[in-house]
Amino acid sequence: MWFLVCSKLKKGLTSDEYDLKMIPSYIQFLPTGEETGTYLALDLGGTNLRVCQVYLKGKGVIKMKQKKFKISDEIKKASGTHLFDFVADCIKIFLDEYNLSNDNLKMGFTFSFPVEQKSIGSDTVGTLILQAYRDAQTRIGVILGTGTNAAYVENLKNIPKWKGQVPEGGKMIINTEWGAFDNGKKILPITEYDNLVDSSSVAPNSQVFEKMVSGMYLGEIVRFILLDLAKKYNLFGGSSFHLLEKKWSFETSFLSRIERDHSTDLIDTKTILENFFQIYNTSLTDREYVKEICELVGIRAARLTLAGIASILILINRLDGCTVAIDGSVFEHYPHFTSRMRDALLELVGISAENIVFEQVRDGSGQGAALVAACCDTLK
Ligand code: ADP
Repeated sequence: MWFLVCSKLKKGLTSDEYDLKMIPSYIQFLPTGEETGTYLALDLGGTNLRVCQVYLKGKGVIKMKQKKFKISDEIKKASGTHLFDFVADCIKIFLDEYNLSNDNLKMGFTFSFPVEQKSIGSDTVGTLILQAYRDAQTRIGVILGTGTNAAYVENLKNIPKWKGQVPEGGKMIINTEWGAFDNGKKILPITEYDNLVDSSSVAPNSQVFEKMVSGMYLGEIVRFILLDLAKKYNLFGGSSFHLLEKKWSFETSFLSRIERDHSTDLIDTKTILENFFQIYNTSLTDREYVKEICELVGIRAARLTLAGIASILILINRLDGCTVAIDGSVFEHYPHFTSRMRDALLELVGISAENIVFEQVRDGSGQGAALVAACCDTLK
């Protein structure tokens, strides 16, 4: 699959008409690790808004204060004006709480949903920039949270659609928007359950790759599979499972808990089925099936994510070694995610897999946004 992704990545660099948008970030630098100063950062994700004060201490060292604000469904559905009023209110609360209202601080910001950028700003780019501040070998940044995306460093001469200047050796961070990979559903091994998730989502036939790997959807895939098995094959042995019919009721964090359940009787799996779905009297075999389904969905997500990363490594000719920075709750909390990706990498590229480092990055987008503001300051 990776060579097909590779060719799609290349196509996206030639024109905007393909599903991989490959958006130039306008960021043509990576931090040196020596930038210093205090900056503010805003990180608007699918679930939370984070406001951060970031202290760059040089030598790759960063300290940060941050406050998280949950983005309610009401605000998500409201107009842009309401959303930005909410953002402004959150900034005010943060500045008041930390006595920063009178300070003159520069701010970077990041949106973790697809936006066409016309000037410097970041997304997944922040994760890449933050890890590059700590480790000069970093070339790829990945988000694996509510949604998924990847950014990487490309040579300007390899971006035919870039109409700006192309200085000798010039580089550009590209935001792939890989969540939209295979929106035409011709390449990925899509199941009937993926189609159910897709067709019942707010935007069918879009973000097809994202719907197979990211936190918003993994639980929903498992829910559809369990429902099917309960209806067709009497999984749960006749117990009522009506709560499982409720959309989005099977959280992705349940997959993590179930995969971590190593008790002989799968007690925690039993607890989840009873407490959240009122499915009582399950047999151990029922619970083993539930666990296996979670494993299959989790393994597939890790291997597909790796296929995307491997494609970028091949595209930029860095299979001989580099660091991949990865942020997001799915990568952070889902058990075995890294080892499953590593196994797949080994299968794909053999021994050179040892030279590829997957580095967990936390709060990358916020701190990365602050670093972009700092680098711009330094370049002035
Ligand atoms: P965002 O992407 O909004 O910035 P996160 O990186 O925290 O935020 O990702 C949130 C997503 O992670 C949610 O879709 C949630 O289902 C998923 N998630 C949260 N906890 C876990 C967990 N323990 N295991 C797997 N997925 C999780």
